[in-house]
Amino acid sequence: MYDTHVHTDFSTDSKMKLEEAMAKATLDNKQLILTEHMDLNYPKPGEFIFDVNEYFKQYSQYRSDDLLLGLELGMTEECLGEGKKIVESHPFDFVLGSIHVVDNLDLYYEAFYKGKVKSEAYGKYLQAMLVCVKNFHFVDSMGHIDYIARYGRYEDKEIYYHEHAEIMDEIFRMLIANDTSIELNTRRFDKKDVIEKLLPIYKRYAELGGKHVTVGSDAHTPEAIGNAERLAKEFAESCKLKIVYYKERKIEYEKV
Ligand SMILES: [Zn+2]
Ligand SMILES: [Zn+2]
Repeated sequence: MYDTHVHTDFSTDSKMKLEEAMAKATLDNKQLILTEHMDLNYPKPGEFIFDVNEYFKQYSQYRSDDLLLGLELGMTEECLGEGKKIVESHPFDFVLGSIHVVDNLDLYYEAFYKGKVKSEAYGKYLQAMLVCVKNFHFVDSMGHIDYIARYGRYEDKEIYYHEHAEIMDEIFRMLIANDTSIELNTRRFDKKDVIEKLLPIYKRYAELGGKHVTVGSDAHTPEAIGNAERLAKEFAESCKLKIVYYKERKIEYEKV
């Protein structure tokens, strides 16, 4: 099965060499899709962007059914045009669209949460997601809907469907209308309660007519590649979602 979310050292926050990633994938009998970070208007200039020409120059020779070349495009309204241009002018296999930055603040840092109660911070995050999902209809899959639950500065950081039902429904309806898949990001799958809390989100997506999930570990190290693959399969099955990946920007079904 493909791990559709992997960062090598073209990503600002990863030191993993392609050779290390490929060696681990071979060992575990997995296929990879690389998704290097491209956050075009990242608050610190020069970070979380990469030289796309250099990426294809260095990695094209390794491209095969075992290694596909994608990117993780950080979505903000301001970078819609530039993002679209980059995607259209390079032969990516897969485009994952993610929300990392809201109101010019990286959700990783405390500043975004300062002075906001949880419902306000998470509401703002989902509002930004909805706007981007409407506009970035060219992305193949929407990354880690639960991203904010990694970094929220609250006693309970989890994101719940029942607390944001209305806006999540809007996001899901938009994804479905645009034929955009949703990612099942397994980075937090080591905690059983996390899986249980995420289930209602994905079940609702399926209930509204969503059909496809891409499964990705968000690996920045070899050890993280293919994280919780079995749990992801069970998760998708219990939501009646089909696991897919993208090759040359076309949807492909996993044989599971
Ligand atoms: Zn991400
Ligand atoms: Zn990532």
